[in-house]
Amino acid sequence: MKSDIRVCSAWRAVHDRPVYTLSDTCPECGADAENSAPAPFDPNDPHGEYRRALKRRHR
Ligand SMILES: [Zn+2]
Repeated sequence: MKSDIRVCSAWRAVHDRPVYTLSDTCPECGADAENSAPAPFDPNDPHGEYRRALKRRHR
């Protein structure tokens, strides 16, 4: 069995960074948690950098 660590499936929209959990749902926003095995960051997400920049501006 591989890692049990999961990551919030909605973290890109809801959180500043991936939220890891051992349960089936995100402890912070309640969204489904998905297997984080491949890569926590999706290098192919064209909006990732934009969203992060946007959140930074709102801080
Ligand atoms: Zn979450």
